[in-house]
Amino acid sequence: MGQEQSYVSEDTPPLTLPERSLAAVAGHIKSGRARRIVVMTGAGISTAAGIPDFRSPETGLYANLAALDLPEPEAVFDLSFFRENPKAFYVLARELYPGARYRPTVSHVFIALLARKGLLHMLFTQNIDCLERAAGVPADRIVEAHGSFATQRCIECKAEFDDAKMRAFVAKGEVPRCEAEGCGGLVKPDIVFFGEALPRAFFELSDRAKEADLILVMGTSLQVHPFAGLPNMADEDVPRVLFNLERVGSFGTQADDVMVLGDCDAGIRKLADELGWRDELEKTWRELVGEEEVERQMQGAKKRVAALHDEVSKLAEEVEEVLHIDDKDEAGQEAEKKEDQGTPVVNPGEKAAKTEEKTQAAIESPQHDASPSKPDDQSQVEQVPKVDGTDESTKKAVL
Ligand SMILES: [Zn+2]
Repeated sequence: MGQEQSYVSEDTPPLTLPERSLAAVAGHIKSGRARRIVVMTGAGISTAAGIPDFRSPETGLYANLAALDLPEPEAVFDLSFFRENPKAFYVLARELYPGARYRPTVSHVFIALLARKGLLHMLFTQNIDCLERAAGVPADRIVEAHGSFATQRCIECKAEFDDAKMRAFVAKGEVPRCEAEGCGGLVKPDIVFFGEALPRAFFELSDRAKEADLILVMGTSLQVHPFAGLPNMADEDVPRVLFNLERVGSFGTQADDVMVLGDCDAGIRKLADELGWRDELEKTWRELVGEEEVERQMQGAKKRVAALHDEVSKLAEEVEEVLHIDDKDEAGQEAEKKEDQGTPVVNPGEKAAKTEEKTQAAIESPQHDASPSKPDDQSQVEQVPKVDGTDESTKKAVL
């Protein structure tokens, strides 16, 4: 875990860093040459917080949404579906609402430290969980590319709706309606649904990515444009570091790309070590979330590793079974068998195609990041049912 990698030939020297390593990146920061750090985050940064991947058929949240007759999990972020059945979204909203359940991870706190040290130029996040804000990243340094729960408005007349009232509705799992005279339209948080444009702030501030002298990308599969294009906006000699389970986007093709593949928090801790910030990072995080949450997240990390091992052995068994069938030369049966075992509710290719279709107008579901086809077993970590009371919380939300 956390090995630093590159696809650039070993003979190609980096342009800016002395070498392609986290130590070199830390040196770059400590030397004062990185003062405009741009960070990009996706669902992977919040996995350790326990935020369920609602697309995973195995999570309680999905089961909960299934009980609400969703045609597919993505429907929860579909505006036309919302008009017909707003309740489904509000089940999810109650779960994800800022401050309701989830607490920042050590990676979120690291970004807040960058800001505190005057090094954060801008954070672009695909997440709607507002955990960066909760970690203390100043609001004026955050671009929530897919919107957030911070504000809300009527989907018909666009009138804004009061924050405190919204919070009360969400807590009760009730659907708020517009209070403008004669309207009564549905109220929706300013989260980007399919068919909606990205927030204006994204386009107004995306130039900040061009100004970066260091780019840190954490926990995103960089599948959806225009967000996915952000890491390519800076000059080629700007070092880019990827903290993710697998290689994504154009990472590994530039001379100063450093890839730290593995658990996001583990990679961030390693960078903090190199910077000499580790104690400050851990202390700030512990003070923010409390010992109980620290313990929960640390246990969760262990469980995710265990779940990954389970996945691998299951996969090995399946492969063995298929090979066995091949031996008997019964290809037809093999296909049939595979179909039977096919746990995914939506096959990844289909899902990706569907997503592409829906994202043509540069839109996407906020958690899209956690989705499409990830053949590599490491990526299964994200798909594993989230430990720690997801089922229980889901039941509560349903009742
Ligand atoms: Zn209205």
